[in-house]
Amino acid sequence: MTPIPTKQRKFTADHRNKTDLNIYTEDFKGDSIFGIIKFKAPLKWDKIIQITALHLVFFYGIYAYDYDNHIFYTTIWSFTTGGIAGLGVTGGAHRLWTHRSYKANTLLRAILMCCFSLAGQNTLFDWVRDHRVHHKYSETDADPHNSNRGFFFAHVGWLMMHKHPDVIKRGRQIDMSDVLNDPVVQFHQKYFIPLKMLLCFIIPTIIPVYFWNETWEASIIQQCIFRYVSSLHFTWSVNSAAHMWGYRPYDRRINPSENRFVSVIAMGEGWHNYHHVFPWDYKAAELGNYKLNLTTMWLDIFAKLGWAWDMKQPSEELIKRTIVKYGDGTHPIYGDQYHDHQHVEEVPVPKDDDTSNLIIYNRKSE
Ligand SMILES: [Zn+2]
Ligand SMILES: [Zn+2]
Repeated sequence: MTPIPTKQRKFTADHRNKTDLNIYTEDFKGDSIFGIIKFKAPLKWDKIIQITALHLVFFYGIYAYDYDNHIFYTTIWSFTTGGIAGLGVTGGAHRLWTHRSYKANTLLRAILMCCFSLAGQNTLFDWVRDHRVHHKYSETDADPHNSNRGFFFAHVGWLMMHKHPDVIKRGRQIDMSDVLNDPVVQFHQKYFIPLKMLLCFIIPTIIPVYFWNETWEASIIQQCIFRYVSSLHFTWSVNSAAHMWGYRPYDRRINPSENRFVSVIAMGEGWHNYHHVFPWDYKAAELGNYKLNLTTMWLDIFAKLGWAWDMKQPSEELIKRTIVKYGDGTHPIYGDQYHDHQHVEEVPVPKDDDTSNLIIYNRKSE
């Protein structure tokens, strides 16, 4: 068979890591809409339509919701399922499976896998691989949600376009053997769609109707739209807002920042400057209490129950040394103390006759 010349070839996506990376890279060209808005990557129109439609329905839901006959329990239930979904993402996919910051018995891993399914995101395998690549190649083309490509791209845009070839290349190099060998992850991979449908949409919607006579309409709007969409945005904000806005007390050279707002909505995942410096800390934060880190509260409870153990965290000394060396001087304890040490010296003025370094405009010779 004669190969199709590059010019005539249509871009084909990387399906399940089977595409030849060389062909993918050759065919990878920026798309544009009506030739006006230009993008760096080929667009995924199915995702654009899905995500746009979901948000249109979200706004329609805000408009159409029957606020007069609102049942308080239904809202409490939305916060509860939102919290359960959040824990599956933060305590499960993130702190356990991606970063291995603690160990968990099969019961807890099964619980966290179900919680994660409730969030209705990607498969655990994809999530973990993407997040490991994100940490290893932050803010480069190999970062799936490279925040240097702007807020929208880091937040949701990355899901609407094909991955940069570097993301795929580096993703394939990531060691995923630990995840692949976990029977809980294997189960999740095998039953991904039924688990997502049942745990994210069907069961959470049936419960209010069955137990407190909520209407189907209100239950669907609250669970399948309000709760689902907001929990997606809470997760996405870690990749966007927490990579842009906030202080950098642990390493001033990187984008990830300490963002209190993101910590509240993402259950403690907004202490992102710390997290990128110490990704193996199970708390994903140095300071603060459970209020701003609900995930840590749950992990500590699981540890007390004996379901979680080997919870890793850096010593105070190591944290202090790091702050002193790389922080931006905003750390509440060591920041002020060491701020002077971090001051970058100004370039001293060269001597008058040092013409290799100094230019004097309109010099008057004496
Ligand atoms: Zn990050
Ligand atoms: Zn992480």
